[in-house]
Amino acid sequence: MQYRNERETVVRYCRMMLSAGLTTGSGGNISIRLADDAFAISPTGIDYAAMEATDVCMVDAAGNVVEGGRLPSSELPMHLALYRARSDARAVVHTHSPYATTFACLRETIPPVHYLVGFAGTHVPLADYATYGTDALAENAIRAMGQDFNAVLLANHGLLALGASLEHAYATAEEIELVARIAFQARAIGTPVHLDDDEMLRVIEKFKTYGSQNPQEEE
Ligand SMILES: [Zn+2]
Repeated sequence: MQYRNERETVVRYCRMMLSAGLTTGSGGNISIRLADDAFAISPTGIDYAAMEATDVCMVDAAGNVVEGGRLPSSELPMHLALYRARSDARAVVHTHSPYATTFACLRETIPPVHYLVGFAGTHVPLADYATYGTDALAENAIRAMGQDFNAVLLANHGLLALGASLEHAYATAEEIELVARIAFQARAIGTPVHLDDDEMLRVIEKFKTYGSQNPQEEE
């Protein structure tokens, strides 16, 4: 089996996504870019608890399955379109996390009520609605994300996050769910104060070296 470690990593993160409450059943999906023409993506319709590394599909840039006996996630076109549009994306995480999806169902962006929204950008933008699994949804997501955001809400659907690694893409999905929950709660008992763009740009700059033991070596 090719890329065993990477496929095991996809399974591990799928289970984390489930246990963290970022999705339910076999909802959501995860992929990683292994090379220009090689991607690993979670299969469609398989419970994460039962998923094994051999179930993770290997696909080429055109979406053909090159290894694995399962059908890839129905959102494969969205994942591949994102890798084409964003050369910095090495992993993509798509969730139906309930608080972020609540904003997506209101067709609102997630505002900067907390600095952790900086994982996505100055806020979390919203992509227009299109049926799941379609090229139209992929186009809408990419248009809303542009080059400046690392996450986007999909109207009446969920959240899409990318990262320079799977760890990073997953952390973005997890932190944005926290920010969405805080925004929801704050609005329930009052009027939240939003951070302005200048402050968010400072936060985003600091995030570039956050967690590094040798921040001066970072670009
Ligand atoms: Zn979905």
